[in-house]
Amino acid sequence: MTPTHIEHIGIAVKSIEEALPFYENVLGLKCYAIEEVADQKVKTAFFQVGQTKIELLEPTSPDSTIAKFIEKNGGGMHHMAFAVEDVATALKDAEAAGCQLIDKEPRGGAEGLRIGFLHPKSTNRVLTELCGKK
Ligand code: ZN
Repeated sequence: MTPTHIEHIGIAVKSIEEALPFYENVLGLKCYAIEEVADQKVKTAFFQVGQTKIELLEPTSPDSTIAKFIEKNGGGMHHMAFAVEDVATALKDAEAAGCQLIDKEPRGGAEGLRIGFLHPKSTNRVLTELCGKK
């Protein structure tokens, strides 16, 4: 696989509403979308920075993985996502290269993209997402 760029950086927040002023008033970015991803039990807010997005993740349920992450770490940087052409192929390539996967097959993410996660055990402890149109 050859990622083209960092698609987004995911940041876990207790409340998108409380986090917005930093991004909008300090960094001067504009939130262009707020979307709920029922599958992952999160509400997301997006900011565009060049080719990369900042994705704020607010849990919508106490059993969401983001809620557990916030409970443990108080929030903060949660994952990094690389843009790839074809997520299914990229996951197979990663596994063939000895990487442990969280998702064997792509699933649906925000903005209608296909996503798949690699296990932090294999990625120097950075939860890594692959993200693409197919
Ligand atoms: Zn993500």
